[in-house]
Amino acid sequence: MSGVGTGARPVRVAVVGAGPAGFFVAEALLKRDGPVFEVDLFERLPTPFGLVRAGVAPDHQKIKSVTRTFEKTAQHGRFRFLGNVSVGRDVTHADLLTHYDQVIYAIGASGDRRLGIPGEELTGSHSATAFVGWYNAHPDFRDFPFELNTQRAVVVGAGNVALDVARVLLRGTDELAKTDIAAHALAALRKSPLREVVLLARRGPGQAAFTAGELEDIAALPGISVVVDRAQLKLDTARLDRLPAPARRNLAVLEALAMAGPPKHERVLRFEFLASPVEVLGDGRGHVRGVRVERNALVPDGDDFKAKGTGQHFELDAGLVFRSVGYFGQPVPGVPFDAKAGVIPNVDGRVTEAPGGAVVPRVYAVGWIRRGPLGVIGTNKADGVAVAEKVVHDVAALPAEARPPREALPVQLSARGVKLVTYADWLALDALELEAGRSAAKVREKLSRIEEMMDALLRAR
Ligand code: NAP
Repeated sequence: MSGVGTGARPVRVAVVGAGPAGFFVAEALLKRDGPVFEVDLFERLPTPFGLVRAGVAPDHQKIKSVTRTFEKTAQHGRFRFLGNVSVGRDVTHADLLTHYDQVIYAIGASGDRRLGIPGEELTGSHSATAFVGWYNAHPDFRDFPFELNTQRAVVVGAGNVALDVARVLLRGTDELAKTDIAAHALAALRKSPLREVVLLARRGPGQAAFTAGELEDIAALPGISVVVDRAQLKLDTARLDRLPAPARRNLAVLEALAMAGPPKHERVLRFEFLASPVEVLGDGRGHVRGVRVERNALVPDGDDFKAKGTGQHFELDAGLVFRSVGYFGQPVPGVPFDAKAGVIPNVDGRVTEAPGGAVVPRVYAVGWIRRGPLGVIGTNKADGVAVAEKVVHDVAALPAEARPPREALPVQLSARGVKLVTYADWLALDALELEAGRSAAKVREKLSRIEEMMDALLRAR
């Protein structure tokens, strides 16, 4: 036993990333009996909560109530929030290993996958992740040039993010105006003539990644018709039996939608299954004018099915294309990274030098950067608890090294010109946003630039 983790010398843990995975692992460590932990939660932005703030759609406010749990964790006496600190830039991985007994990366997956087709770089072709960040006032996307000046958009991918994007584009601004949607996005949506979103799913309805609840949600919205071609839903009964329950639930909702007949509303979401974009078409002036699509067939692939092009093509006119084909993890300098999978290689949360390689002592990964960008917010709770177990287990093997005082790193960071944001600072920003929201009859008016946030804090302090 190293003696670390007793009351006299708590285990000092750095968690990097203040999204759900970071908060859940912090909570699990602070709550449990056994070794005593002190947790410092580092976050690149001045604001906490990761995708709960910058990913969950503004019209899904209920999902955001999970922040109440995170707030409780933040009030814990052995918890500190160190916002506006970029690990890898303001502080290195090696610095963290000097100051902390254990370091846990919970940095999510901030990049996106590309389609790898011609025309993807044209103006008007975007990643859904950028669009989501933009309408949620994420500072990285504040000045993204989203022009919504088109009647039809194509969304590529059949996951819940694709449905979020389609819903936000189509649902109309009266309801969105009451949410915490970014003011700049609301203004652009208000001016947009957009009337139709075509969602391209490369495989069949039985392989869609979205969930039935999300599908029902959009279908229930007033003013939107969801159009599904019944012919695309045909499956033989043998195959239907082999589909997992969530896929059968999706099919049931899609079947009901397909029975609804021609669209009754002005705004339309149209599903195109078994369809892959092969080229984003330009108008000759660098802007998207449409998409060339190949019709696919499903071919067996082990226990699953994959899409195979049939050689039949069709074109869709559209001024906007969003690829919604998944998030992708980004590396941190000095920390192992599996560039193929976009994750930090690990075994059950213990980071390894490479996939299948030796364990790197004292370093862990949790959430999307550990297991890839799949699962809902709650999935990270179980993940946080499981990784915390490994962290706790490994305390016994920690070297009995002395660590610099807990104040040392924040002092060093301030000396280097890093403008640290504490949890009390965040609460001040939170209060300002809520107040601005009240004045605008919205849930919240988010600050969307880091400079704005830091100026507001200077005035509030
Ligand atoms: P996702 O669920 O992994 O869906 C990605 C979609 O992109 C799949 O339909 C996939 O099809 C398709 N795709 C991948 N590569 C493609 C390509 N080259 N061409 C065409 N299609 C391609 O990812 P996501 O939508 O980004 O969501 C991430 C996670 O967040 C998911 O677990 C999701 O459920 C969760 N989420 C939940 C909510 C909610 O609960 N309200 C909201 C948003 C997100 P294949 O299946 O054929 O690969």
